[in-house]
Amino acid sequence: MKKEKLVSGILAIAGFLLISSLIISACHRYPVQYWVYGLISSLIILLNVLILLAWVAFGEWGLWIFVALSSILTLFVSLVTNTNITTSVEVISASRIAAAGNIHTPNMNMQILIFFVVGLFVSIFKNSMVSYALSIDRQIDTLEEEKNALEAEHSSMKGTNEALKEKVVRYAILKDLTGKLSSTLSLDSVVNIVIDNVSDLVEKADASILFLVDEDAHELALKAARGNEGAVSVKSKKGDIFDIWVLKQRQPLMVSDADKDFRFNLDLIPVEFRRDFKSLIAAPLISEKKVIGILRVESSEAEAYISDDLRLLTIISDLAAIALENAKLYHRIEELAISDGLTGLYCQRYFKDRLAEDIVKAVRIKQPLSLLMFDIDGFKGYNDKYGHIAGDIVLKSIGGLLKGSLEIGDIAARYGGEEFVILLFGKDKAVAQKLGEEIRKKIETEKFILRQVETHVTVSIGCAAVPEDAVSRDEIIRSADAALYEAKKSGGNKICLA
Ligand code: GH3
Ligand code: MG
Ligand code: MG
Repeated sequence: MKKEKLVSGILAIAGFLLISSLIISACHRYPVQYWVYGLISSLIILLNVLILLAWVAFGEWGLWIFVALSSILTLFVSLVTNTNITTSVEVISASRIAAAGNIHTPNMNMQILIFFVVGLFVSIFKNSMVSYALSIDRQIDTLEEEKNALEAEHSSMKGTNEALKEKVVRYAILKDLTGKLSSTLSLDSVVNIVIDNVSDLVEKADASILFLVDEDAHELALKAARGNEGAVSVKSKKGDIFDIWVLKQRQPLMVSDADKDFRFNLDLIPVEFRRDFKSLIAAPLISEKKVIGILRVESSEAEAYISDDLRLLTIISDLAAIALENAKLYHRIEELAISDGLTGLYCQRYFKDRLAEDIVKAVRIKQPLSLLMFDIDGFKGYNDKYGHIAGDIVLKSIGGLLKGSLEIGDIAARYGGEEFVILLFGKDKAVAQKLGEEIRKKIETEKFILRQVETHVTVSIGCAAVPEDAVSRDEIIRSADAALYEAKKSGGNKICLA
């Protein structure tokens, strides 16, 4: 409580007491009825207590209003109860009243004493209550702060916990993906595993797309695309401005809102190639410092991805790049193992295996199968005349020529030194004869320029077929060889049928 407030309160009550005493003295010059004095004194004490309470409850305004009301009430009671008038001097002077034996002197003293005691008690009580309330308030504030801090810590722990749980799930899927990728060496399987798993790992993936770089064409080629409901129709098979950006920058890309990203001008995407997406993340598949592909995930919502998603996509891309490179290497080794180093055609071993399988199949499904066997005429002489290296060039050229004459499903192989074979599954002897004749003519007219000298070679061809000439591998080879021998015997540069 403020000091001025206390002083003004004390002054107000002292004033009231003075006025009350003067009124009582004036009204009761003579002590006629003792009980009335007692009653009035008690009333004054009660009024003083009320004044104090009003002061405490309503402040200074309450104090003065109650002082005024109490003064009016005192005057009213005195006027109503009194018949004699006394002077103020007689009342104020305690000794004189005491000497006169008036009963109100001790009452008045008691009233003043009680007032001070009550006033003191109320002041002390209020002060201690106020300071107690303040300390409680402080404690509540401190507790509130501690509670808020604990709540904040709890929610951050909860967030961390959720994030950790999510990470554990993601790492489990990543581990699973790594296992799947390392268990295959087929390029197509790797592509399918990556594209099927990426949407499990990256949330909000409305579409996931994988491009691989076509090294011959030096451009991107769409390999696979999945959406929420399976395959997605991606019309830009060579990638759009976002994929080209990743290809050129060799960096992961995050676009939060494609319409607002100043780096990309959407008008550059042809209307027919546009898809309905707002945000995307894309990462390059890098192997031996070369971009071999691009993995991209997109969403129709803006701000769908956070940097964690991009980091995860980059990890998947790295895993995919390694798996694709392994698959490619394996494929290459496989090809080398079954190919002839000089001509690039299949080698004899592979051809024989394939021939055995295809004959069984052809017999089972009652399909024709034909074999053409080629031998270069007088090749020993050619080598002797132009040299072995020149002979190799001719062999390589004939290999290319045979390869170029094939249709899907046909295979050509280098059977021996200067002997070649063509296996035609599903084609009968007449078709094979026609093809053999075409090839013979092509070789006959082909110019082999060696040190500015134009040279020519010819071939003899033997043709045999399943089922008319044979129903097993060795049988058909024997038949074709016999036909070839016939062709040689009759002068070469011709095709003979078994
Ligand atoms: P023809 O077939 O008409 O009876 O006579 P030819 O001289 O071609 O006889 P043959 O079919 O036996 O030919 C074998 C020759 O092919 C021997 C060798 O000089 C040549 N030759 C075999 N392999 C290679 C090779 O890899 N490179 C080169 N340059 N020549 C080869
Ligand atoms: Mg030969
Ligand atoms: Mg020969």
